[in-house]
Amino acid sequence: MLGLWLIVGLGVLAWIIEMPRRQATAMIAGAWLGIVALHAIAPASGLAARIGGSRGGWLLAGGLVALILLYRAGLRHLRARAAAPLDRPAPGAAPLDAPAPLDAPAPLNAPAPDDDVGDAELERYARHIVLREIGGPGQMRLRAARVLVVGAGGLGAPVCLYLAAAGVGRITLADDDRVSLSNLQRQVIFRSDQRGQGKVQAAAAAMTALNPHVAVTPLPRRITQEDTTLFADHDLIVDGTDSFAAREAINRAATAARIPLVSGAIAQWEGQVTLYDPARGGPCLTCLFPAAPAPGLAPACAEAGVVGALPGVIGSLMALEAIKAITGAGDALRGRMLIFDGLHGETRTIRTARRKDCPVCKDAR
Ligand SMILES: [Zn+2]
Repeated sequence: MLGLWLIVGLGVLAWIIEMPRRQATAMIAGAWLGIVALHAIAPASGLAARIGGSRGGWLLAGGLVALILLYRAGLRHLRARAAAPLDRPAPGAAPLDAPAPLDAPAPLNAPAPDDDVGDAELERYARHIVLREIGGPGQMRLRAARVLVVGAGGLGAPVCLYLAAAGVGRITLADDDRVSLSNLQRQVIFRSDQRGQGKVQAAAAAMTALNPHVAVTPLPRRITQEDTTLFADHDLIVDGTDSFAAREAINRAATAARIPLVSGAIAQWEGQVTLYDPARGGPCLTCLFPAAPAPGLAPACAEAGVVGALPGVIGSLMALEAIKAITGAGDALRGRMLIFDGLHGETRTIRTARRKDCPVCKDAR
């Protein structure tokens, strides 16, 4: 079987001298072709006997090797196609113009929204881009979106991290509080060494460290119902505050500005999420809760306590609703409220309806 040794020897030689794969394949294929030709021309010669095998045997072996090589090449081609982005956003799809609110400090970093989407962003958002419901166009909507997050507490922490990670282009974060030791049990956006710092500045630093492609504007003050102009500068409001008075003020401003409002609330082991959007037919907060709860009936987390992971669950659901509202994916929680009971591991969704005589949203449509 001199022929077999010749083929193996050529393969080992190519490996030792690190011959390029294409040349090595050509060399071995040439030797194989010579052997097949010898068997075809002079099958009875002494050389053919010393090479060994038969013309049929060598043809069969060559065919098998060719099949294996073809299969590998096909596999490589398929893998290369799967790794490429399915849907490259069109360079012309420029995000909306987003002037910074007049009473807000400048964003920490301001990536030019008109820039073409670079490879780094395509890779960063690859898991969104392959989703049928988001894809390239949805990612461009996220990139162009302006979201106001009110409250940088337990709910605000996951909302801010997930919206920044998702590539929401411009995020304004409003809160007048400072980081304290008792926050760190659940407000996972802060670190121990940030105690005493303003929450919006500390959170904004974490968000831009996570994703330098988003612009974050820290707004170190409380939101009031007079903030209609600030609200109107955004596409979506996310409310993670923890007092009824703050929620009511945010609801009034959002309704007046006709901007949808993702709202979440937590207490002890239970939380709820909904989308208030009276401009598009849904109820507002006042439709559901016309009056403030009696004192002591809905105590704040500081008095009633809250399990650390609960704001993580509800805040993540809020971030998910925000991503759905911006991209148009799936069914929004407009006219529905999702209630999560962490202590018993149960969720339920209830229908919510608009009140015709609601003093806040009766003229919203
Ligand atoms: Zn209402």
